Amino acid sequence: MQLQFVGCGDAFGSGGRSNTCFHVTGGAVNFLIDCGASSLPALKRCGIVRNEIELILITHFHGDHFAGLPFFLLDAQFCRRSQPLIIAGPRGIETKLKAAMEVMFEHSSRTQQRFELSVVELAPEETRAFGNVTVTPYPVVHGESGGPFLAYRIEAEGRVISYSADTEWTETLIPAAHDADLFIAEAYYYDKIVKNHLSLKTLEVHLGAINAKRLILTHMSDDMLGRLDKLPYFAARDGMIVEL
Ligand SMILES: [Zn+2]
Ligand SMILES: [Zn+2]
Repeated sequence: MQLQFVGCGDAFGSGGRSNTCFHVTGGAVNFLIDCGASSLPALKRCGIVRNEIELILITHFHGDHFAGLPFFLLDAQFCRRSQPLIIAGPRGIETKLKAAMEVMFEHSSRTQQRFELSVVELAPEETRAFGNVTVTPYPVVHGESGGPFLAYRIEAEGRVISYSADTEWTETLIPAAHDADLFIAEAYYYDKIVKNHLSLKTLEVHLGAINAKRLILTHMSDDMLGRLDKLPYFAARDGMIVEL
């Protein structure tokens, strides 16, 4: 199994990076984690065959994690997608998706897709299986608007991938990422403490309790990107592939 960072940027394109979108593929799985506004061109740059993506997991309804869906769906329609697609995310996802589609491409939410499309709500700490992918969402803390906010613990092909989503430090990240083969964690700032986002210094305190086998930092501001050379951690880059 492998995970490609199609996009690992923040909402503001810091470092010229694309919005959040990770692509996981293996012998029997093919899914995306988040689909931010710039994800369709980023997927095309990586040469990813969109027709084979079976599932898109959405962590929350901020544009840099979710606003790529209208483009993805429209492109799928025009490219005559044939494979069924499941989009799963926090409570309210169906309404949010329709609203985003209407704002960006009027009437597009009323289009009958040529392919089977299911939109599924996920509840915190309720494990769901989608084919060979098992997903457990955990509630995280990321402000007042754009939620509910979910971190994901994802099991597939005998491996565990955890993604913090956007969040300030919250204890739910421990069960979400405990002993994971790969923990992808937001590290927005180095040591500045802000509401709604995680700084590396805060995360560091908890890494022992999380005990992930591998940590990769993502969703970094210019503050973090400017320090990467000197940090003893792996950090994501757009296009980077990790074997699992
Ligand atoms: Zn974000
Ligand atoms: Zn966000």
